[in-house]
Amino acid sequence: MYTDLALYIDGKWRSGEGRKGEDVINPATGKALAHLPHASKADLDHALAAADKAFAVWKSTSAYDRSKIMRKAADLLRERADHVARVQTQEQGKPYPESRAEVLTSADIIDWYAEEGRRAYGRIVPGRQKGVRQIVMQEPVGVVAAFTPWNFPTLTPVRKIAGALAAGCTIIIKASEETPGGCVELVKCFADAGLPAGVLNLVFGVPAEVSEHLIPSPLVKKISFTGSIPVGKHLAALAAKGMKKATMELGGHSPVVVFADADPEKAADVIAAFKYRNAGQVCISPTRFYVQEQSYPKFLARFTEYAKGLKLGDGMEKGTGMGPLANPRRLDAMESFVNDAKERGGKIQTGGSRHGNQGFFFQPTVITDVPDDSKIMTQEPFGPVAPIVPFKTFDEVVERANSLEFGLAAYAFTASGATATAIGDAIQSGMVGVNSVAISTPETPFGGIKESGYGSEGGVEGLHAYMNTKFISQA
Ligand code: NAD
Repeated sequence: MYTDLALYIDGKWRSGEGRKGEDVINPATGKALAHLPHASKADLDHALAAADKAFAVWKSTSAYDRSKIMRKAADLLRERADHVARVQTQEQGKPYPESRAEVLTSADIIDWYAEEGRRAYGRIVPGRQKGVRQIVMQEPVGVVAAFTPWNFPTLTPVRKIAGALAAGCTIIIKASEETPGGCVELVKCFADAGLPAGVLNLVFGVPAEVSEHLIPSPLVKKISFTGSIPVGKHLAALAAKGMKKATMELGGHSPVVVFADADPEKAADVIAAFKYRNAGQVCISPTRFYVQEQSYPKFLARFTEYAKGLKLGDGMEKGTGMGPLANPRRLDAMESFVNDAKERGGKIQTGGSRHGNQGFFFQPTVITDVPDDSKIMTQEPFGPVAPIVPFKTFDEVVERANSLEFGLAAYAFTASGATATAIGDAIQSGMVGVNSVAISTPETPFGGIKESGYGSEGGVEGLHAYMNTKFISQA
């Protein structure tokens, strides 16, 4: 039903042989699904040596041939989508249709990078003297070390793996120990598509021990991390010691601004569905809702109705609208947000507590009347809790939206072209969805500013993140 878990190093699946490990838990039941082996120090050194050796082979493989292998992996992932989606739902909790969509988008991401790798153009800059050619080239950076979290077991690893491989880099990825199966299945697709040994290596372990071993290695030239801000700062500091390139996709606290000229009920339908996707455990999840006061009652009523109507349950069951949280840490965090809000005068419109007596379920929750300095309005919720508050003017809401140190995603709803342009310009955020929540596609850059990190994944930016620019002046 689930999958066999193993490390993938130098083209071979490895487990047992006295390695330590941990159990992977199904968050819908709290029961163990399988045992995950951890990489020993010798395994990590083996992965480093294999990735370094394979770099010579992979960078000299033509972009055309690289793309053929990658597209084959994408096709295999599509063929296996039902199975991979079941694996993901069991380990992570999200409803099966959400898992399946994630897997299919992951295949699209591989295709996008496979194609874009063939267009990693340089340019010729006119020289100042006759006969001088000034050539600008893009070269792969080398061995990449990547670290991914538990909320998108396939999608987050694929962005890093596909970007690195398309650029001609090799990669060691430490995926989440809590949701390893999605990445194991993804790596199987690349292995079965004929990727040469050592180009892609998958390891698991104690996160701090693995990152502190891999990042300082002189063989590693670039790191990419998705996860929390404190861990991102720690890993970025480790990378800085070796002056290594880094991409940091960290947390957010995305404001949603609903202007009075927008249809409040249509806006509520779109944004509520987006809010409770993956039980709110999404870095670009909408998390602070500011609604212009004329529309506030209608928006709140419709949003709350949506939250009340969501069916909570095991993601494998038909009709489940929202699954459990991925781990017990999120349950404790949700209780702490709700308790702080209540102490500060917040009113619970719906939800507010755990659900059921097994697994890690928390009710879809809507809170009103919370002050701007409450915990839920200032710290990333990463769960199914939505604070909704009114605002009066454009300037006031822009100031409130920009008041935090996060800058990942933001959303706005308006019927006015002028307001749409003005809010898009005024919001301090790496991505802004205006009358749209489609801010994460294979073709477009995905990344934050401020403490939400730096660098982009997706789009041409995602490919160039794995390349060095070289200038050759040839007389
Ligand atoms: P956490 O800060 O302990 O871990 C976040 C992620 O980083 C996990 O996947 C973890 O395995 C990994 N990690 C932790 N220490 C590491 C280290 N030294 N080296 C390498 N990897 C390391 O928190 P958590 O309880 O797992 O998640 C909670 C918070 O993390 C959330 O509130 C959210 O802010 C953030 N988060 C963000 C994303 C995202 O997509 N940006 C995803 C998951 C979690």
